Amino acid sequence: MKLSRSARYAALEATLSGERCVILDGAVATELQARGARDFRLSDNDHWGFEAVEHMPEAVADVHKRYVEAGCDVITTNTYGVLDAAGRRVTGLALGARPVHWMDLARNAVRIARQAIGELGRSDECAVAFSIGGDVVTDEHLKTVQLLLRCFSDEAPDFVLLETLTMLKDDRTRDAIRLLIDAGLPVWVSFRRCRDGVCGIHGQLWGDPQGDDFGRLAAELEEIGIGALLINCLPVHRVSGTLPWLADFTDLPLGVYPNLGRYVDPAWRFDETIGPAEYADMALIWRAEGARILGGCCGVRPAHIAAMAEALTGTRPLAPMGDTTHGDTDTALSDTGEGAKWQDDRGRDLFPLPVPELSCDDEVSPPTAAGLLLWKHLLRDEVGRGKQCLDIGCGAGLTTLQLARNGASQVTALDASRAAVANTLSNAFRNGLDRVVDGHVVDLYTLDAERTYDIVVASVPQVPTDPGGERSGHRPVDYWGRNLFDHVLSILPALLAPGGRALVVQSSLLSQAETARQLRRAGLHARVIDHQACPLGAELHDRLEQIRRVEDASDAYHYTWGDDHVMTLYLLEISRD
Ligand SMILES: [Zn+2]
Repeated sequence: MKLSRSARYAALEATLSGERCVILDGAVATELQARGARDFRLSDNDHWGFEAVEHMPEAVADVHKRYVEAGCDVITTNTYGVLDAAGRRVTGLALGARPVHWMDLARNAVRIARQAIGELGRSDECAVAFSIGGDVVTDEHLKTVQLLLRCFSDEAPDFVLLETLTMLKDDRTRDAIRLLIDAGLPVWVSFRRCRDGVCGIHGQLWGDPQGDDFGRLAAELEEIGIGALLINCLPVHRVSGTLPWLADFTDLPLGVYPNLGRYVDPAWRFDETIGPAEYADMALIWRAEGARILGGCCGVRPAHIAAMAEALTGTRPLAPMGDTTHGDTDTALSDTGEGAKWQDDRGRDLFPLPVPELSCDDEVSPPTAAGLLLWKHLLRDEVGRGKQCLDIGCGAGLTTLQLARNGASQVTALDASRAAVANTLSNAFRNGLDRVVDGHVVDLYTLDAERTYDIVVASVPQVPTDPGGERSGHRPVDYWGRNLFDHVLSILPALLAPGGRALVVQSSLLSQAETARQLRRAGLHARVIDHQACPLGAELHDRLEQIRRVEDASDAYHYTWGDDHVMTLYLLEISRD
């Protein structure tokens, strides 16, 4: 079977070789959520909206139409999750009573997009791209791509958009691209990457440093015969600099469609700060950096695309210039470590230790070694007297209670776990400290600094995780184990009252140099006030391979003593510069 190139795709090619830019659409799945589509289901999130093609086709069509009206040259089918949906070994998808065949959904998705375009009278101008999301990493995924070609013989898109790829090395993605091209379908390929590596929705970098591997792959994909190379699903602040860098490796038309907002389980959280006008301004910069294709990924809405399309009218991509956005290469943190006095407090009668009365509920973890290190310091230095305090990640409440016991005027305890907050509050009551303790269930990624504190204490999980086995999705994979830790650092400037300070535990499995960089970026200053050896627990022990990768690629470390693996916990005191 060989498909012939559509007139609409020929028109796109003509646009790309000319000076006008191609306008892609914005998000579909998150737009269904934003518009409060009545039947949008959580199960849809697993397939990033694919199921909506079956159970709410009108809503999908409606989203497409908004993008057609916004002036898009390309409408993308709502099929991002097709690879995973097809791989399910159940009767159809999780759609309730009626099993549905994913191939029917694929065909319908193309049909819905075509009809939406047709109803607005733009059938000749507006192309349909079939979205395939994520890396092709199993034989089953590859088979699904092969089967999709059979769907396309009934209902063909104008081209295929393989998007949000992360991997450079898996040959199956290359095989999938070749399959599609050999069948006569043009293929555009988009990576969730900036020039520094794989980039998550929060802008966090995964993976080891890869030099110019991405650039070299771009050249290879050009040889294989793809039609365009894009970057997507990264935050806007990560975009700049990548296209000029890619242009050194390839003459392919380059494009970009980043995210606005972030994924906070179980839904997308929209960015309220970047409106259509601001988005259009940024698009002009990307255009000037050489983008010939511009659109939006998760969280980007029709109004953004409309403003962008209007602003881009008449613009030209400039000859890409050498990159000037990078220079932040310092690695030393001069004021953490050397020179600082690292000491334990040994001058007091501490047998038995005056531990607050602590009851640990079933679902709540007892204090960790990191929590105990923090607690020791609060006890020893009587931290918090007369202060407004914040405990990030309170767990059963040990550090919250110690701050309250030290005479804090108020302690606010935060945790992502409802059970932990309840446990902390009941322990406060148990110790007669409930008057000065309040507790809140908060996802730290959504934590806003509504007020400031004199003392902030934080001990958050730090678990390096291998993204290799996981397909690219919308949940951030914590390659370096520092997602939450870095987030805490980034919000500290807004949380700290004038003269305030934070006490934060960092393990040696995280790079000191990277912490230095994060602190500098936030205008903060740190010193080590205590440290302690700590055996790796089961969760970390299971990730030794990933931990070694992180250690090979950075200054992170742990000790191997016989069969034991031991890291160091550092207690950092952080304040403004
Ligand atoms: Zn996205």
